[in-house]
Amino acid sequence: MSNAHPPRQQRYDVVIVGGGHNGLVSAAYLARAGLSVLVLERLDHVGGAAVSAQAFPGRSTRLSRYSYLVSLMPTRLVDELGLDLALTSRSTASYTPWVRDGRHGGLLVERPEGPATRESFRALTGGEEEYAAWQRFYADVEGLAAAVAPTLMEPLPTERSLREQVEANVWRDLVERPLGETIEARFADDTVRGVVATDALIGTFASLRADSLEQNRCFLYHLIGNGTGEWRVPVGGMGAVTDALARAAVEAGAEIITSAGVHAIRGGDGGAEVTWDGDGGPRRTVAARHVLANVAPWVLRILLGEEPDAATKPVGSQLKLNLLLDRLPRLRSGADPAVAFAGTLHLSEDYSRLEAAYADAAAGRVPEVLPGEVYCHSLSDPSILGDDAPAGTQTLTYFGLHTPGTLFTDDPGAKETAVARALASLDEHLAEPIESCIARDGNGDLCLEAKVPHEIEADLAMPGGHIFHGPLDWPWAPSRARLETPAQRWGVQTELEPVLLCGSGARRGGAVSGLGGHDAAQAVLETR
Ligand SMILES: Cc1cc2nc3c(=O)[nH]c(=O)nc-3n(C[C@H](O)[C@H](O)[C@H](O)COP(=O)(O)OP(=O)(O)OC[C@H]3O[C@@H](n4cnc5c(N)ncnc54)[C@H](O)[C@@H]3O)c2cc1C
Repeated sequence: MSNAHPPRQQRYDVVIVGGGHNGLVSAAYLARAGLSVLVLERLDHVGGAAVSAQAFPGRSTRLSRYSYLVSLMPTRLVDELGLDLALTSRSTASYTPWVRDGRHGGLLVERPEGPATRESFRALTGGEEEYAAWQRFYADVEGLAAAVAPTLMEPLPTERSLREQVEANVWRDLVERPLGETIEARFADDTVRGVVATDALIGTFASLRADSLEQNRCFLYHLIGNGTGEWRVPVGGMGAVTDALARAAVEAGAEIITSAGVHAIRGGDGGAEVTWDGDGGPRRTVAARHVLANVAPWVLRILLGEEPDAATKPVGSQLKLNLLLDRLPRLRSGADPAVAFAGTLHLSEDYSRLEAAYADAAAGRVPEVLPGEVYCHSLSDPSILGDDAPAGTQTLTYFGLHTPGTLFTDDPGAKETAVARALASLDEHLAEPIESCIARDGNGDLCLEAKVPHEIEADLAMPGGHIFHGPLDWPWAPSRARLETPAQRWGVQTELEPVLLCGSGARRGGAVSGLGGHDAAQAVLETR
Protein backbone atom coordinates (compact mmCIF):
# COMPACT_ATOMS: atom_id res chain seq x y z
CA MET A 1 0.00 0.00 0.00
CA SER A 2 1.50 3.34 -0.85
CA ASN A 3 0.99 7.02 -1.35
CA ALA A 4 0.66 8.29 -4.89
CA HIS A 5 3.14 5.93 -6.53
CA PRO A 6 2.56 5.35 -10.24
CA PRO A 7 0.37 2.34 -11.00
CA ARG A 8 2.25 -0.85 -11.84
CA GLN A 9 0.17 -1.35 -14.99
CA GLN A 10 -1.75 0.75 -17.49
CA ARG A 11 -4.60 -1.73 -17.69
CA TYR A 12 -6.22 -3.82 -14.95
CA ASP A 13 -8.97 -6.37 -14.86
CA VAL A 14 -10.59 -4.32 -12.08
CA VAL A 15 -10.10 -0.81 -10.70
CA ILE A 16 -11.84 -0.08 -7.41
CA VAL A 17 -12.66 3.55 -6.67
CA GLY A 18 -12.48 3.98 -2.88
CA GLY A 19 -10.63 1.94 -0.29
CA GLY A 20 -13.43 1.65 2.27
CA HIS A 21 -13.89 -1.74 3.90
CA ASN A 22 -16.20 -2.80 1.05
CA GLY A 23 -13.66 -1.87 -1.62
CA LEU A 24 -11.09 -3.96 0.24
CA VAL A 25 -13.48 -6.92 0.37
CA SER A 26 -13.91 -6.75 -3.41
CA ALA A 27 -10.15 -6.42 -3.86
CA ALA A 28 -9.45 -9.46 -1.69
CA TYR A 29 -11.99 -11.70 -3.43
CA LEU A 30 -10.95 -10.66 -6.94
CA ALA A 31 -7.19 -10.78 -6.38
CA ARG A 32 -7.58 -14.23 -4.81
CA ALA A 33 -9.38 -15.30 -7.99
CA GLY A 34 -6.29 -14.24 -9.98
CA LEU A 35 -7.51 -10.92 -11.40
CA SER A 36 -5.31 -7.83 -11.54
CA VAL A 37 -6.79 -5.30 -9.11
CA LEU A 38 -6.00 -1.65 -8.35
CA VAL A 39 -7.65 0.18 -5.42
CA LEU A 40 -7.60 4.00 -5.49
CA GLU A 41 -8.30 5.82 -2.22
CA ARG A 42 -8.49 9.61 -1.85
CA LEU A 43 -7.35 9.70 1.78
CA ASP A 44 -3.86 8.78 2.98
CA HIS A 45 -5.24 5.61 4.55
CA VAL A 46 -7.85 2.97 3.73
CA GLY A 47 -10.98 1.97 5.65
CA GLY A 48 -13.43 4.85 5.07
CA ALA A 49 -15.82 4.85 8.05
CA ALA A 50 -14.27 1.65 9.46
CA VAL A 51 -11.12 3.05 11.08
CA SER A 52 -9.50 3.54 14.46
CA ALA A 53 -7.79 6.82 15.29
CA GLN A 54 -5.94 8.62 18.04
CA ALA A 55 -8.57 11.34 18.33
CA PHE A 56 -7.07 13.29 21.23
CA PRO A 57 -3.55 14.81 21.21
CA GLY A 58 -1.27 13.34 23.83
CA ARG A 59 -3.59 10.36 24.49
CA SER A 60 -2.68 7.05 22.91
CA THR A 61 -6.20 5.53 23.01
CA ARG A 62 -7.28 4.46 19.54
CA LEU A 63 -11.03 4.97 19.17
CA SER A 64 -13.29 3.50 16.53
CA ARG A 65 -13.85 7.02 15.25
CA TYR A 66 -17.01 6.49 13.15
CA SER A 67 -18.53 2.97 13.06
CA TYR A 68 -17.90 0.85 16.14
CA LEU A 69 -19.97 -2.36 16.13
CA VAL A 70 -20.20 -5.27 13.67
CA SER A 71 -23.26 -7.40 13.12
CA LEU A 72 -23.89 -7.76 9.43
CA MET A 73 -20.52 -9.12 8.30
CA PRO A 74 -21.23 -12.81 7.66
CA THR A 75 -18.96 -15.29 9.41
CA ARG A 76 -18.74 -17.01 6.04
CA LEU A 77 -17.13 -13.91 4.51
CA VAL A 78 -14.60 -13.71 7.36
CA ASP A 79 -13.78 -17.40 6.84
CA GLU A 80 -13.61 -17.26 3.04
CA LEU A 81 -11.11 -14.40 3.16
CA GLY A 82 -9.17 -15.99 6.04
CA LEU A 83 -9.41 -12.75 8.03
CA ASP A 84 -7.46 -12.54 11.24
CA LEU A 85 -10.29 -10.82 13.08
CA ALA A 86 -11.81 -11.28 16.53
CA LEU A 87 -15.30 -10.06 17.35
CA THR A 88 -16.29 -10.17 20.98
CA SER A 89 -19.77 -10.21 22.53
CA ARG A 90 -20.98 -7.48 24.87
CA SER A 91 -22.19 -8.83 28.19
CA THR A 92 -25.08 -6.34 28.30
CA ALA A 93 -27.41 -5.95 25.32
CA SER A 94 -28.93 -2.68 26.51
CA TYR A 95 -29.66 -0.55 29.53
CA THR A 96 -32.28 2.17 29.49
CA PRO A 97 -32.33 4.53 32.45
CA TRP A 98 -35.80 5.87 33.30
CA VAL A 99 -37.40 8.32 35.73
CA ARG A 100 -40.99 7.76 36.85
CA ASP A 101 -42.71 9.68 39.64
CA GLY A 102 -39.30 11.04 40.64
CA ARG A 103 -37.93 7.49 40.96
CA HIS A 104 -34.79 6.51 38.99
CA GLY A 105 -34.52 3.01 37.56
CA GLY A 106 -33.20 1.21 34.53
CA LEU A 107 -34.43 -1.41 32.05
CA LEU A 108 -31.66 -3.98 31.73
CA VAL A 109 -31.57 -6.43 28.83
CA GLU A 110 -28.81 -8.96 29.44
CA ARG A 111 -27.04 -11.04 26.86
CA PRO A 112 -28.27 -13.72 26.98
CA GLU A 113 -31.50 -12.65 28.63
CA GLY A 114 -31.94 -14.12 32.11
CA PRO A 115 -33.94 -13.56 35.29
CA ALA A 116 -32.55 -10.03 35.78
CA THR A 117 -34.06 -9.01 32.43
CA ARG A 118 -37.49 -10.35 33.38
CA GLU A 119 -37.25 -8.64 36.78
CA SER A 120 -36.22 -5.40 35.15
CA PHE A 121 -39.30 -5.40 32.88
CA ARG A 122 -41.47 -6.12 35.92
CA ALA A 123 -39.94 -3.20 37.87
CA LEU A 124 -40.64 -0.83 34.99
CA THR A 125 -44.08 -2.00 33.87
CA GLY A 126 -45.47 -3.55 37.06
CA GLY A 127 -46.35 -6.89 35.45
CA GLU A 128 -45.31 -9.77 33.19
CA GLU A 129 -47.20 -8.86 30.03
CA GLU A 130 -44.69 -6.44 28.46
CA TYR A 131 -41.81 -8.91 28.72
CA ALA A 132 -44.00 -11.62 27.21
CA ALA A 133 -44.82 -9.24 24.34
CA TRP A 134 -41.07 -8.56 23.95
CA GLN A 135 -40.30 -12.27 23.74
CA ARG A 136 -43.08 -12.90 21.20
CA PHE A 137 -41.96 -9.95 19.08
CA TYR A 138 -38.30 -10.95 18.94
CA ALA A 139 -39.23 -14.56 18.20
CA ASP A 140 -41.07 -13.20 15.16
CA VAL A 141 -38.07 -11.08 14.20
CA GLU A 142 -35.90 -14.19 14.48
CA GLY A 143 -38.23 -15.98 12.06
CA LEU A 144 -37.68 -13.26 9.46
CA ALA A 145 -33.92 -13.11 10.16
CA ALA A 146 -33.67 -16.90 9.78
CA ALA A 147 -35.14 -16.62 6.28
CA VAL A 148 -33.09 -13.60 5.15
CA ALA A 149 -29.64 -14.24 6.70
CA PRO A 150 -28.74 -17.37 4.65
CA THR A 151 -29.47 -15.48 1.41
CA LEU A 152 -27.08 -12.61 2.09
CA MET A 153 -24.08 -14.14 0.32
CA GLU A 154 -26.12 -15.60 -2.53
CA PRO A 155 -27.63 -13.85 -5.57
CA LEU A 156 -30.58 -11.71 -4.50
CA PRO A 157 -33.62 -13.75 -3.53
CA THR A 158 -36.92 -12.45 -4.83
CA GLU A 159 -39.36 -10.86 -2.46
CA ARG A 160 -41.87 -13.61 -3.25
CA SER A 161 -39.46 -16.44 -2.43
CA LEU A 162 -38.74 -14.93 0.98
CA ARG A 163 -42.33 -14.06 1.78
CA GLU A 164 -43.26 -17.70 1.26
CA GLN A 165 -40.88 -18.73 4.06
CA VAL A 166 -42.16 -16.27 6.66
CA GLU A 167 -45.45 -16.33 8.56
CA ALA A 168 -47.91 -13.96 6.92
CA ASN A 169 -48.51 -11.86 10.04
CA VAL A 170 -44.76 -11.48 10.65
CA TRP A 171 -44.16 -10.34 7.07
CA ARG A 172 -47.03 -7.87 7.37
CA ASP A 173 -45.89 -6.49 10.73
CA LEU A 174 -42.22 -6.06 9.84
CA VAL A 175 -42.13 -5.54 6.09
CA GLU A 176 -45.44 -4.14 4.88
CA ARG A 177 -46.84 -2.04 7.69
CA PRO A 178 -45.07 1.04 9.14
CA LEU A 179 -43.05 -0.29 12.07
CA GLY A 180 -44.57 2.29 14.41
CA GLU A 181 -48.03 0.80 13.90
CA THR A 182 -46.68 -2.64 14.77
CA ILE A 183 -44.88 -1.39 17.87
CA GLU A 184 -47.95 0.50 19.05
CA ALA A 185 -50.11 -2.59 18.54
CA ARG A 186 -47.74 -4.98 20.29
CA PHE A 187 -46.31 -2.99 23.21
CA ALA A 188 -47.95 -0.75 25.81
CA ASP A 189 -45.05 0.88 27.64
CA ASP A 190 -43.50 4.04 26.16
CA THR A 191 -39.94 3.14 27.22
CA VAL A 192 -40.17 -0.46 25.97
CA ARG A 193 -41.66 0.77 22.69
CA GLY A 194 -38.74 3.18 22.33
CA VAL A 195 -36.08 0.54 23.01
CA VAL A 196 -37.58 -1.58 20.21
CA ALA A 197 -37.89 1.39 17.87
CA THR A 198 -34.36 2.80 18.00
CA ASP A 199 -32.91 0.15 15.70
CA ALA A 200 -35.17 1.60 13.01
CA LEU A 201 -33.72 5.09 13.29
CA ILE A 202 -29.94 4.70 13.23
CA GLY A 203 -28.75 7.17 10.59
CA THR A 204 -32.31 7.21 9.26
CA PHE A 205 -34.46 10.33 9.47
CA ALA A 206 -38.03 9.07 9.43
CA SER A 207 -41.10 8.96 11.58
CA LEU A 208 -41.81 5.49 12.92
CA ARG A 209 -45.17 5.78 11.17
CA ALA A 210 -43.72 6.82 7.78
CA ASP A 211 -45.32 5.24 4.73
CA SER A 212 -41.91 5.18 3.01
CA LEU A 213 -41.01 2.23 5.32
CA GLU A 214 -37.43 3.53 5.44
CA GLN A 215 -37.58 2.85 9.18
CA ASN A 216 -38.63 -0.77 8.59
CA ARG A 217 -35.66 -1.35 6.30
CA CYS A 218 -33.23 0.16 8.81
CA PHE A 219 -34.78 -2.03 11.52
CA LEU A 220 -34.37 -5.16 9.44
CA TYR A 221 -30.68 -4.45 8.80
CA HIS A 222 -30.15 -4.15 12.52
CA LEU A 223 -31.62 -7.56 13.26
CA ILE A 224 -30.58 -9.97 10.52
CA GLY A 225 -26.80 -10.13 11.00
CA ASN A 226 -25.69 -13.78 10.97
CA GLY A 227 -29.30 -14.71 11.80
CA THR A 228 -28.91 -13.47 15.39
CA GLY A 229 -28.73 -9.71 14.97
CA GLU A 230 -26.04 -9.60 17.63
CA TRP A 231 -23.82 -6.50 17.44
CA ARG A 232 -20.28 -7.42 18.40
CA VAL A 233 -17.15 -5.46 19.16
CA PRO A 234 -14.14 -5.77 16.87
CA VAL A 235 -11.17 -6.45 19.15
CA GLY A 236 -8.62 -3.71 18.48
CA GLY A 237 -11.37 -1.39 17.21
CA MET A 238 -12.81 -0.92 13.74
CA GLY A 239 -9.32 -0.32 12.41
CA ALA A 240 -8.65 -4.01 13.04
CA VAL A 241 -11.40 -4.93 10.55
CA THR A 242 -9.87 -2.71 7.90
CA ASP A 243 -6.31 -3.88 8.66
CA ALA A 244 -7.37 -7.53 8.26
CA LEU A 245 -9.11 -6.78 4.96
CA ALA A 246 -6.23 -4.69 3.58
CA ARG A 247 -3.80 -7.47 4.51
CA ALA A 248 -5.98 -10.07 2.76
CA ALA A 249 -6.19 -7.91 -0.36
CA VAL A 250 -2.47 -7.09 -0.57
CA GLU A 251 -1.38 -10.65 0.21
CA ALA A 252 -3.58 -11.85 -2.64
CA GLY A 253 -1.81 -9.43 -5.00
CA ALA A 254 -4.08 -6.37 -5.08
CA GLU A 255 -2.36 -3.01 -5.48
CA ILE A 256 -3.55 -0.11 -3.30
CA ILE A 257 -2.72 3.54 -3.95
CA THR A 258 -3.72 6.03 -1.27
CA SER A 259 -3.91 9.83 -1.62
CA ALA A 260 -5.45 9.16 -5.03
CA GLY A 261 -8.68 11.13 -5.40
CA VAL A 262 -10.51 9.89 -8.48
CA HIS A 263 -12.19 12.69 -10.41
CA ALA A 264 -13.45 10.95 -13.54
CA ILE A 265 -14.66 7.58 -14.74
CA ARG A 266 -15.35 7.28 -18.44
CA GLY A 267 -17.12 4.12 -19.51
CA GLY A 268 -17.63 2.50 -22.88
CA ASP A 269 -18.52 -0.95 -24.14
CA GLY A 270 -16.25 -3.53 -22.65
CA GLY A 271 -14.32 -1.28 -20.28
CA ALA A 272 -13.74 2.06 -18.62
CA GLU A 273 -11.00 4.56 -17.82
CA VAL A 274 -10.34 6.01 -14.41
CA THR A 275 -8.47 9.28 -13.83
CA TRP A 276 -7.09 10.55 -10.54
CA ASP A 277 -4.89 13.23 -9.06
CA GLY A 278 -2.26 12.04 -6.64
CA ASP A 279 -0.82 14.05 -3.77
CA GLY A 280 0.71 16.84 -5.85
CA GLY A 281 1.93 14.31 -8.41
CA PRO A 282 0.85 14.13 -12.05
CA ARG A 283 -2.70 13.29 -13.13
CA ARG A 284 -2.92 9.61 -14.04
CA THR A 285 -5.31 7.43 -16.03
CA VAL A 286 -5.64 3.64 -16.21
CA ALA A 287 -8.00 1.39 -18.13
CA ALA A 288 -9.98 -1.52 -16.70
CA ARG A 289 -12.44 -4.14 -17.84
CA HIS A 290 -14.51 -3.44 -14.70
CA VAL A 291 -14.67 -0.42 -12.43
CA LEU A 292 -16.13 -0.97 -8.97
CA ALA A 293 -17.49 2.11 -7.20
CA ASN A 294 -16.99 2.00 -3.44
CA VAL A 295 -18.13 5.64 -3.49
CA ALA A 296 -21.81 6.45 -2.96
CA PRO A 297 -24.10 6.28 -6.01
CA TRP A 298 -24.61 10.08 -5.78
CA VAL A 299 -20.82 10.62 -5.94
CA LEU A 300 -20.47 8.07 -8.74
CA ARG A 301 -22.84 10.07 -10.96
CA ILE A 302 -20.53 13.09 -10.61
CA LEU A 303 -17.47 11.00 -11.42
CA LEU A 304 -19.32 9.79 -14.52
CA GLY A 305 -19.70 13.39 -15.69
CA GLU A 306 -23.07 14.55 -14.33
CA GLU A 307 -23.53 17.86 -12.51
CA PRO A 308 -24.03 17.49 -8.71
CA ASP A 309 -27.79 17.30 -8.10
CA ALA A 310 -28.75 18.90 -4.78
CA ALA A 311 -32.30 17.51 -5.03
CA THR A 312 -31.20 13.88 -4.89
CA LYS A 313 -28.31 14.30 -2.46
CA PRO A 314 -28.72 12.04 0.60
CA VAL A 315 -29.21 13.74 3.98
CA GLY A 316 -27.38 12.18 6.91
CA SER A 317 -29.06 12.36 10.29
CA GLN A 318 -26.73 11.66 13.19
CA LEU A 319 -24.68 13.44 15.80
CA LYS A 320 -21.56 11.48 16.67
CA LEU A 321 -19.57 12.15 19.84
CA ASN A 322 -16.37 10.43 20.93
CA LEU A 323 -15.23 10.90 24.50
CA LEU A 324 -12.40 9.73 26.70
CA LEU A 325 -13.30 9.50 30.39
CA ASP A 326 -11.14 9.46 33.53
CA ARG A 327 -13.80 7.18 35.03
CA LEU A 328 -17.28 5.94 34.21
CA PRO A 329 -19.95 8.13 35.82
CA ARG A 330 -22.21 6.83 38.59
CA LEU A 331 -25.88 6.41 37.73
CA ARG A 332 -28.77 7.80 39.78
CA SER A 333 -30.51 4.42 39.45
CA GLY A 334 -27.64 2.90 41.44
CA ALA A 335 -26.89 0.43 38.63
CA ASP A 336 -23.28 -0.69 38.25
CA PRO A 337 -21.83 1.56 35.48
CA ALA A 338 -19.70 -1.37 34.26
CA VAL A 339 -22.95 -3.23 33.50
CA ALA A 340 -25.05 -0.29 32.28
CA PHE A 341 -22.42 1.13 29.90
CA ALA A 342 -21.31 -2.28 28.57
CA GLY A 343 -24.22 -2.45 26.14
CA THR A 344 -26.26 0.14 24.28
CA LEU A 345 -27.38 2.70 26.86
CA HIS A 346 -30.51 4.39 25.52
CA LEU A 347 -31.05 8.08 26.32
CA SER A 348 -34.33 9.93 25.79
CA GLU A 349 -35.41 7.18 23.44
CA ASP A 350 -38.94 6.66 24.76
CA TYR A 351 -41.26 6.14 21.81
CA SER A 352 -43.09 9.44 22.37
CA ARG A 353 -39.78 11.29 22.67
CA LEU A 354 -38.54 9.75 19.42
CA GLU A 355 -41.61 10.96 17.58
CA ALA A 356 -41.45 14.41 19.23
CA ALA A 357 -37.78 14.70 18.26
CA TYR A 358 -38.64 13.75 14.68
CA ALA A 359 -41.36 16.43 14.58
CA ASP A 360 -38.95 19.08 15.98
CA ALA A 361 -36.25 18.24 13.44
CA ALA A 362 -38.73 18.05 10.56
CA ALA A 363 -39.80 21.57 11.52
CA GLY A 364 -36.15 22.71 11.29
CA ARG A 365 -35.28 22.74 15.00
CA VAL A 366 -32.65 20.81 16.93
CA PRO A 367 -34.86 18.45 19.00
CA GLU A 368 -35.64 19.92 22.40
CA VAL A 369 -34.96 16.50 23.94
CA LEU A 370 -32.34 14.72 21.86
CA PRO A 371 -32.64 10.94 21.56
CA GLY A 372 -29.41 9.00 21.34
CA GLU A 373 -27.40 6.12 22.70
CA VAL A 374 -24.00 5.68 24.30
CA TYR A 375 -21.71 2.73 24.59
CA CYS A 376 -18.38 2.11 26.31
CA HIS A 377 -16.20 0.15 23.88
CA SER A 378 -13.26 -0.20 26.27
CA LEU A 379 -15.33 -2.28 28.73
CA SER A 380 -15.51 -5.02 26.08
CA ASP A 381 -12.02 -4.43 24.68
CA PRO A 382 -9.56 -2.60 26.97
CA SER A 383 -6.80 -3.14 24.37
CA ILE A 384 -7.87 0.06 22.56
CA LEU A 385 -6.96 2.21 25.58
CA GLY A 386 -3.21 1.93 24.96
CA ASP A 387 -0.47 1.03 27.44
CA ASP A 388 -0.14 4.44 29.10
CA ALA A 389 -3.84 5.08 29.93
CA PRO A 390 -4.26 5.84 33.66
CA ALA A 391 -6.30 3.27 35.61
CA GLY A 392 -10.02 3.89 35.26
CA THR A 393 -9.81 5.44 31.78
CA GLN A 394 -12.71 4.45 29.49
CA THR A 395 -14.00 5.46 26.07
CA LEU A 396 -17.55 6.55 25.40
CA THR A 397 -19.22 6.86 22.04
CA TYR A 398 -22.55 8.65 21.51
CA PHE A 399 -24.78 8.27 18.45
CA GLY A 400 -27.58 10.85 18.31
CA LEU A 401 -30.75 10.41 16.28
CA HIS A 402 -32.96 12.87 14.41
CA THR A 403 -30.26 15.43 13.73
CA PRO A 404 -30.51 15.84 9.93
CA GLY A 405 -27.67 17.70 8.27
CA THR A 406 -30.03 20.46 7.18
CA LEU A 407 -30.26 21.65 10.81
CA PHE A 408 -26.59 22.52 10.86
CA THR A 409 -25.78 23.96 7.44
CA ASP A 410 -27.27 27.43 7.96
CA ASP A 411 -27.05 27.74 11.75
CA PRO A 412 -23.52 27.79 13.17
CA GLY A 413 -24.86 27.56 16.75
CA ALA A 414 -26.94 24.42 16.11
CA LYS A 415 -24.05 22.02 16.66
CA GLU A 416 -23.25 23.47 20.07
CA THR A 417 -26.93 23.24 21.01
CA ALA A 418 -27.12 19.63 19.88
CA VAL A 419 -23.96 18.64 21.79
CA ALA A 420 -25.24 20.37 24.94
CA ARG A 421 -28.57 18.54 24.65
CA ALA A 422 -26.84 15.22 24.08
CA LEU A 423 -24.79 15.67 27.24
CA ALA A 424 -27.91 16.86 29.12
CA SER A 425 -29.74 13.67 28.15
CA LEU A 426 -26.96 11.71 29.84
CA ASP A 427 -26.73 14.01 32.86
CA GLU A 428 -30.45 13.47 33.51
CA HIS A 429 -29.52 9.98 34.72
CA LEU A 430 -26.14 10.58 36.35
CA ALA A 431 -25.24 11.11 39.97
CA GLU A 432 -22.33 13.32 38.83
CA PRO A 433 -22.17 15.47 35.68
CA ILE A 434 -20.53 13.78 32.72
CA GLU A 435 -18.24 16.78 32.25
CA SER A 436 -16.60 16.03 35.61
CA CYS A 437 -15.60 12.59 34.24
CA ILE A 438 -14.22 13.65 30.84
CA ALA A 439 -10.45 13.31 30.55
CA ARG A 440 -8.15 16.11 29.33
CA ASP A 441 -5.87 15.83 26.31
CA GLY A 442 -2.22 16.85 26.11
CA ASN A 443 -3.26 20.50 25.61
CA GLY A 444 -5.52 20.50 28.66
CA ASP A 445 -8.71 20.42 26.55
CA LEU A 446 -11.65 18.10 27.20
CA CYS A 447 -11.40 14.83 25.27
CA LEU A 448 -14.69 15.35 23.43
CA GLU A 449 -14.98 15.12 19.65
CA ALA A 450 -18.30 15.94 17.96
CA LYS A 451 -19.26 15.47 14.33
CA VAL A 452 -22.45 16.52 12.55
CA PRO A 453 -23.32 15.19 9.08
CA HIS A 454 -21.46 17.78 6.95
CA GLU A 455 -18.30 17.09 8.97
CA ILE A 456 -18.68 13.37 8.27
CA GLU A 457 -19.02 14.30 4.59
CA ALA A 458 -15.86 16.41 4.74
CA ASP A 459 -13.94 13.56 6.40
CA LEU A 460 -15.25 10.60 4.40
CA ALA A 461 -16.95 11.91 1.22
CA MET A 462 -20.18 10.21 2.29
CA PRO A 463 -22.64 12.55 0.53
CA GLY A 464 -24.65 14.58 3.03
CA GLY A 465 -22.85 12.61 5.75
CA HIS A 466 -25.32 9.74 5.17
CA ILE A 467 -23.82 6.75 6.96
CA PHE A 468 -25.25 4.25 4.44
CA HIS A 469 -24.42 6.40 1.34
CA GLY A 470 -28.20 6.88 0.93
CA PRO A 471 -31.44 5.28 2.19
CA LEU A 472 -31.27 1.50 2.65
CA ASP A 473 -32.96 -0.90 0.21
CA TRP A 474 -34.66 -4.15 1.13
CA PRO A 475 -32.06 -6.93 0.95
CA TRP A 476 -34.02 -8.75 -1.76
CA ALA A 477 -35.14 -8.12 -5.33
CA PRO A 478 -38.61 -6.65 -5.83
CA SER A 479 -40.85 -9.26 -7.43
CA ARG A 480 -40.81 -7.56 -10.86
CA ALA A 481 -37.08 -6.70 -10.89
CA ARG A 482 -35.02 -7.59 -13.96
CA LEU A 483 -32.45 -10.19 -12.95
CA GLU A 484 -30.85 -10.89 -16.32
CA THR A 485 -27.22 -9.86 -15.82
CA PRO A 486 -24.85 -10.95 -13.03
CA ALA A 487 -24.80 -7.34 -11.82
CA GLN A 488 -28.60 -7.28 -11.54
CA ARG A 489 -28.69 -10.66 -9.84
CA TRP A 490 -26.22 -9.39 -7.20
CA GLY A 491 -27.82 -5.96 -6.84
CA VAL A 492 -24.74 -3.99 -7.92
CA GLN A 493 -25.69 -2.69 -11.38
CA THR A 494 -25.35 0.86 -12.69
CA GLU A 495 -26.42 2.24 -16.05
CA LEU A 496 -22.98 1.47 -17.48
CA GLU A 497 -22.18 -2.20 -17.98
CA PRO A 498 -18.48 -2.05 -16.93
CA VAL A 499 -19.22 -0.01 -13.78
CA LEU A 500 -20.63 -1.73 -10.69
CA LEU A 501 -21.46 -0.53 -7.18
CA CYS A 502 -19.36 -2.22 -4.51
CA GLY A 503 -20.09 -0.09 -1.43
CA SER A 504 -22.79 0.79 1.01
CA GLY A 505 -24.97 1.99 -1.89
CA ALA A 506 -25.22 -1.50 -3.41
CA ARG A 507 -28.60 -3.11 -2.72
CA ARG A 508 -27.36 -5.02 0.35
CA GLY A 509 -24.31 -2.86 1.04
CA GLY A 510 -25.33 -0.75 4.07
CA ALA A 511 -23.22 -0.80 7.26
CA VAL A 512 -19.99 -2.66 8.03
CA SER A 513 -20.94 -5.92 6.36
CA GLY A 514 -18.61 -6.34 3.40
CA LEU A 515 -21.68 -7.42 1.44
CA GLY A 516 -21.45 -4.64 -1.15
CA GLY A 517 -17.86 -5.63 -1.83
CA HIS A 518 -18.65 -9.33 -1.87
CA ASP A 519 -21.59 -8.96 -4.23
CA ALA A 520 -19.72 -6.81 -6.75
CA ALA A 521 -16.84 -9.30 -6.75
CA GLN A 522 -19.23 -12.20 -7.42
CA ALA A 523 -20.85 -10.28 -10.29
CA VAL A 524 -17.43 -9.67 -11.86
CA LEU A 525 -16.42 -13.32 -11.45
CA GLU A 526 -19.66 -14.47 -13.08
CA THR A 527 -19.05 -12.32 -16.18
CA ARG A 528 -15.64 -13.85 -16.86
C1 LIG B 1 -20.53 7.95 12.61
C2 LIG B 1 -20.83 6.60 11.98
C3 LIG B 1 -21.15 5.53 12.80
C4 LIG B 1 -21.47 4.30 12.23
N1 LIG B 1 -21.67 3.21 13.04
C5 LIG B 1 -21.78 2.00 12.49
C6 LIG B 1 -21.69 0.83 13.28
O1 LIG B 1 -21.46 0.89 14.50
N2 LIG B 1 -21.84 -0.37 12.67
C7 LIG B 1 -22.07 -0.47 11.31
O2 LIG B 1 -22.22 -1.59 10.82
N3 LIG B 1 -22.10 0.61 10.53
C8 LIG B 1 -21.93 1.84 11.08
N4 LIG B 1 -21.86 2.93 10.27
C9 LIG B 1 -22.06 2.77 8.82
C10 LIG B 1 -20.85 2.15 8.16
O3 LIG B 1 -19.67 2.64 8.74
C11 LIG B 1 -20.81 2.42 6.65
O4 LIG B 1 -22.06 2.11 6.07
C12 LIG B 1 -19.72 1.60 5.99
O5 LIG B 1 -18.49 1.77 6.67
C13 LIG B 1 -19.59 1.97 4.55
O6 LIG B 1 -18.48 1.26 4.03
P1 LIG B 1 -18.06 1.41 2.52
O7 LIG B 1 -16.79 0.70 2.34
O8 LIG B 1 -19.18 1.03 1.63
O9 LIG B 1 -17.88 2.98 2.29
P2 LIG B 1 -16.96 4.06 3.02
O10 LIG B 1 -16.57 3.62 4.35
O11 LIG B 1 -17.71 5.35 2.87
O12 LIG B 1 -15.67 4.09 2.12
C14 LIG B 1 -15.65 4.73 0.86
C15 LIG B 1 -14.22 5.13 0.57
O13 LIG B 1 -14.18 5.79 -0.69
C16 LIG B 1 -13.27 6.88 -0.59
N5 LIG B 1 -13.58 7.84 -1.64
C17 LIG B 1 -14.64 8.67 -1.72
N6 LIG B 1 -14.58 9.41 -2.84
C18 LIG B 1 -13.46 9.03 -3.49
C19 LIG B 1 -12.83 9.42 -4.71
N7 LIG B 1 -13.34 10.37 -5.51
N8 LIG B 1 -11.66 8.82 -5.08
C20 LIG B 1 -11.10 7.86 -4.29
N9 LIG B 1 -11.64 7.46 -3.12
C21 LIG B 1 -12.81 8.03 -2.73
C22 LIG B 1 -13.51 7.41 0.81
O14 LIG B 1 -12.45 8.21 1.28
C23 LIG B 1 -13.67 6.11 1.60
O15 LIG B 1 -12.44 5.64 2.08
C24 LIG B 1 -21.50 4.16 10.82
C25 LIG B 1 -21.13 5.23 10.01
C26 LIG B 1 -20.80 6.45 10.57
C27 LIG B 1 -20.39 7.58 9.68
